[in-house]
Parts: sequence; structure tokens; C-alpha cells
Amino acid sequence: MEEFDQLPKVVVERGEGCWLEDVDGHRYLDGTASIWTNVHGHGNPELDAALRDQLGKVAHSTYLGLSHGPALELEKSLVEISPPGLERVFFSDNGSNAVEIALKLSFQYWQLVGQPEKTEVLAMEGAYHGDTFGAMSVGGGGLFHRRFEPWCFPVHRFPQPVCREAGGVVEASSDAASLDALAAMLEDRSGKVAAVILEPWVQGAAGMRLQPRAFVREVSALCRQHRVHLILDEVFTGFGRAGPMLVCAETDVRPDFLCLAKGLTAGYLPLAATLATESVFEAFLGEPAQNRQFFHGHTFTANPLGAAVALKNIEMLKNLLAGDDFPARMEYFGNALRNHFMGHPNVAQVRQRGFTCAIDLCPAGALAEVFPAPARTGLKVILKAREHGLLLRPLGDTLLLVPPLVISREEVDFLCRTTLQAMDETLQTHPSSNPHL
Ligand code: PLP
Repeated sequence: MEEFDQLPKVVVERGEGCWLEDVDGHRYLDGTASIWTNVHGHGNPELDAALRDQLGKVAHSTYLGLSHGPALELEKSLVEISPPGLERVFFSDNGSNAVEIALKLSFQYWQLVGQPEKTEVLAMEGAYHGDTFGAMSVGGGGLFHRRFEPWCFPVHRFPQPVCREAGGVVEASSDAASLDALAAMLEDRSGKVAAVILEPWVQGAAGMRLQPRAFVREVSALCRQHRVHLILDEVFTGFGRAGPMLVCAETDVRPDFLCLAKGLTAGYLPLAATLATESVFEAFLGEPAQNRQFFHGHTFTANPLGAAVALKNIEMLKNLLAGDDFPARMEYFGNALRNHFMGHPNVAQVRQRGFTCAIDLCPAGALAEVFPAPARTGLKVILKAREHGLLLRPLGDTLLLVPPLVISREEVDFLCRTTLQAMDETLQTHPSSNPHL
């Protein structure tokens, strides 16, 4: 906080498309998609109209014991885009809660079906599932959470697949060791395990750690084989961020629980959903006196404004993803990253999938080394980028580039060019030292 208090502040006043403007009239490209949420740009006329329309009816009415049109419609829409089997929707208001709900549902399910000994959770190293205690427990215990470990429940962790690179850009990855470790854990203790939780394809907050595309299918098969739940956390990867609408639907994986938030409302309002299978739902049925029901609810669960925007977002996203321009722009983004950063002396590795990218910075020419932490190199680079009209967020000395999904080719060029300029000015590397430019 001491450092933060001294940093120049950006006070955002308005937004349009991929750009934000501060109270002093400075314009910035939103290179974080307002923390990985924005899909169709800021101030999108269709989303604004959907919101206004709902505002003309009711801004909020509880979903506890009541319902309303926008969320009922949204339930149908979410079930339709999800893999077969996920038929029940439990709304909440942020990604951490979506994960808490999946964990609690799994925990309670095994008690209800007479296997109360199944209480353990298996999660991947480096995982990030949110900042509440359950979500922190299944998270990878990084800097954010380490301090709270004594209050977290124990979780068994399997290793991440390994990203292999050529010239600083990830070319392939290998998941054999990771899958072997998970299989061995399940072999050993599946009788005690309630669920495996996974961010499919990309671990975002770990620094865009990539998995081979088929990895999630292998994990799913192991879960089926050992009769444990699979919880997929698509809070980050969902709604086109990693390419498809949902990674699970794209890979034909049928999890028992699916957690959604962030892009669900295209970055407009806080809303989250946890989808579950019909067979999970049925386990919770019974007479009131049996107390089988799921006692969990949040005040702003299924907020009608959020639900109305989410509905419009999904309708618009279907069109966006069906067109040729979206995959072509994604490819353009990948090529631009390669052209700008591959072989740069200060780049140890670039990881990209869909409209997400991480650039690991390193001292010039020393790919295996890191900057001393007190130098705050990543922070300095993003502050320099701000001076040139680009908002980014660092993760230590890794730069995360996560633009709105509607970013144009010209804006991709600006994003890459400005990031490179900020790196070169901060690290005093002459731009021409990148042999590929
Ligand atoms: N799960 C994943 C994969 C995330 O990336 C995040 C946030 O970055 C969360 C859960 C937590 O979401 P929220 O910040 O809305 O609580």
C-alpha cells in the first residue's frame, strides 16, 4: 500500500470500445479487458440497450424463493451452450463464489449419497480459483494466499503440464508427468476424494500456464474411472477468452460442475453461475425435515440487470464466434506477439492461447535468470506503458496481455508496439536488438 499510495493514479471516467479515458482526458487501450472480463468493448450500444431495457423494469429483486424473467432465460441459455448433462444452474455474484458453491455441492453430495468419507479435493499446482477461503484452499498457495494456509483445508496437488518453447515462444507442452501423478493419487485415495478441480487449457492467474488441448479430456476420463467429481473452473477461460465459447463444450468434456463468471456479463456487472448435472441435483431432493437441501445464497444472486446483459452477451458472442473474423484476428494476435517478442533479449517465454498472453521478462540474454524482486521490473514496465496510453497488469515480472475480444488488428499492433516500447525504455534495451523487427 505504501508503494501504491505513491504511484500516479489513473481515475477512469468513461470507456468506448477497447479504450478507457481518465478524468484528465488521457486515453488508454484496455490491455487487461478490465481484469479479463470485457468481451464486446466498453459502452457497447446493444449491451447498453439491454441494460437500460431491464432498468426500466426492475433493477433488483431477490432470487431467494422468487425468480424473474432474465435469469430464467439465462438458465436456458447457459444450459444450451454447456456440454450435455449440465442442466441445473446456481447463480451467485463472482468467480470465487462460483467455485465455493461447486466445492460445497460436491462435499454435500457425497454425504447425501452415503459416502461421507469422500471429502478430499485434488487440484493442480499453481491454480487460482479466487480469494475466499475455500477458493484459496484449492488454489496453488502463491503469494496471495500463503499467509492464510493455516486456515485453509488441506488439498492434494498434482503438477502442471510443462510448457516447452522454441525461441521464447511456447511450441508444445507435455502433460505425461502431470497425468501420471494425478492417476497415482486417484489410484491411492479415490475412496476419499470428492472432486478434482481444474482451470481447463489455461491457468490464467498463474501467468497463462498452458495445457495441451486434450489434457482436460484425460483428466475427465480419470475422474470418471475413479468416480470422483470433476469441477471445471471456466471463470477465466469461458465466453471466448481462450477461443471457444466454453472449453468444456469445445473438447466434449462433461464435468459434474462448471464455474462461470468474468466474461459472463461481457464485463458489465458482477454475476456468476455454477452449473451442475441433473444427477447431482436429484441427490439434494427430499422432504424438508430431511435437510437435504443446499443452504447457500447471496443477496445479489442472479441480479436481473446482470442477467439481462449476460443474455445479450451470449447472443452476441454466438455471432462473433461463428464469423471468420474472430479466428483470423486471434491468429493475427498470435503472429503479432511472435513478431514483436520472439527472440527479444529480455523475453524468456511468451505463452498465448486465444486472446490471452503472458510475457516473462528476464535480464538481457539470460533466459534462465530473473530480475531481483526489489527492482519491481514488471511494475516499472506497465507504468511506462501507461505513459504511452496502454493499461497492463504485471504478475511479478510477467506481463499479462488480455484485451477485449473485439480488439481490432490496428489495436493489436498498438498493444504489442507499446508493450515493446515500454519494455525497451524501462530496460534500456535498444529496440533494434530484437532480431525479428
Ligand atoms: N477462477 C479463476 C480461474 C479466476 O481466474 C478467477 C479470477 O481471476 C476466479 C476464479 C475468481 O473470480 P472473482 O475475482 O470474480 O472472485
